[in-house]
Amino acid sequence: MTATLLEYHHAGNGVHVGFTSVQTGNLALHLEGQTTDSLEQARTHRADLERALDLSVGSTAFLHQVHSATVVDAEGLGWGEATASQTPPAADAMISRGGGTPLAIMVADCLPVAFVTRDGDTAVAHAGRVGLVSGVLESTLEQLGVDPVHISAWIGPAICGSCYEVPEQMRDDVAGVHSTAASTTSWGTPALNLPRAAETLLTRVGVQVSRSAVCTLEDDRVFSHRRAPGQGRFAGLVWRGDTPA
Ligand SMILES: [Zn+2]
Repeated sequence: MTATLLEYHHAGNGVHVGFTSVQTGNLALHLEGQTTDSLEQARTHRADLERALDLSVGSTAFLHQVHSATVVDAEGLGWGEATASQTPPAADAMISRGGGTPLAIMVADCLPVAFVTRDGDTAVAHAGRVGLVSGVLESTLEQLGVDPVHISAWIGPAICGSCYEVPEQMRDDVAGVHSTAASTTSWGTPALNLPRAAETLLTRVGVQVSRSAVCTLEDDRVFSHRRAPGQGRFAGLVWRGDTPA
């Protein structure tokens, strides 16, 4: 496994799923107050990551994530492609038919979810509290357009149900949509368990789910917006190619 990934999974048929770490560096170009130097560093981190995974520099698709349930086709969205001077589309999930476009979804407490179908289509989704309630995972499954029993999904590092403290009303509102999201922090206050809610939702329709045990708030190998706001985003990745060295 390449040292640049915190977690790596071979999804079969030359398709790979991985989650980056703080060591990979910040991959986001949208941080509040981000300086020119920091933007340049993020581009360097993206390029270094692609080289480490034996991908063409600039070929990986990134989105302008807005906590929506919008799913787009990733074709032509490589961050270094001609269209990259424009802002990437505002969306929170994307699909690559045939898996030919490497996909990246950026997170720092929200859930990064990677999908691979039996036929080799790939997808990623950014599923935080708002996205989960809006149905970003259901939209992604729908757009993949195959029986969910032929889809595998990997839920990456995210803030856990013992750490994600929210107001009681918010917990109840989310639990009204996703009952398994209701949780309590380790210090006894209302909380949300979004990884569990996502796993329940996907498993219920037949998706094969793997879930990371890493909590972003507790583990400083990954970025956490709650622990250290504005420091950066790590990414969930799915790509086709050689197995990383
Ligand atoms: Zn935790």
